Amino acid sequence: MSYVFNPLPLPSVPVVGRPERFPVRRIYCVGRNYEEHAKEMGFTGREPPFFFMKPADAVVPVNAGETGTMAYPSLTKSLHHEIELVVAIGTGGKTIKAADAHKHFFGYAVGLDMTRRDLQGEMKKQGRPWDIGKGFEHSAPIGPITPVAQAGDVSKAEIFLQVNGKDRQRSTVAKLIWNLGEIVEHLSAAWELQPGDLIFTGTPEGVAAVVAGDTLVGGIAGLGELRVRVA
Ligand code: MN
Repeated sequence: MSYVFNPLPLPSVPVVGRPERFPVRRIYCVGRNYEEHAKEMGFTGREPPFFFMKPADAVVPVNAGETGTMAYPSLTKSLHHEIELVVAIGTGGKTIKAADAHKHFFGYAVGLDMTRRDLQGEMKKQGRPWDIGKGFEHSAPIGPITPVAQAGDVSKAEIFLQVNGKDRQRSTVAKLIWNLGEIVEHLSAAWELQPGDLIFTGTPEGVAAVVAGDTLVGGIAGLGELRVRVA
């Protein structure tokens, strides 16, 4: 097959302990999946899970021990951090039951769902899509993917984010409203998952703005740390 121009390289993420990279197909994100974050965004209770997407080329892959760089995006005065556990799908499927979800996992990573909060808020108010607030370039920094066998059980892992050395977010994955199996059950009822899909599973409370020059360090116990500087 030939193309009318050279296609851009496939977005990909490094894998712990492997020279091969994880090719990214889609990035799904879960909204408001920790109770205290739902509250700080003005919502309460356990609403059905809902999803939005980012383009695959929004990833900013960061190697272990390195500091990635994300450009401060245009149009916003309120770039928020959301530290999240990311599930990397290795085997596709549709209408997957929660109890079978783990069979589809390739691994886990630490990710940031960076958000133009002011633009997202404006779109919410107008009942318009969130894309401009969520799906911009560099909006998905992500550390290396740890294969499931090496990661062990992440369902109760500590998750945190610091900005310039100070705590902003600190919680545990145990506080997810919808757990990983339930997320996959709901998501795969609406879309057929494929190898290469990433699922950002939601952020705990403490989301706030960063500015150019800030350094973000996020981590999840067992999955290492993600370091990103805002340029
Ligand atoms: Mn999020």
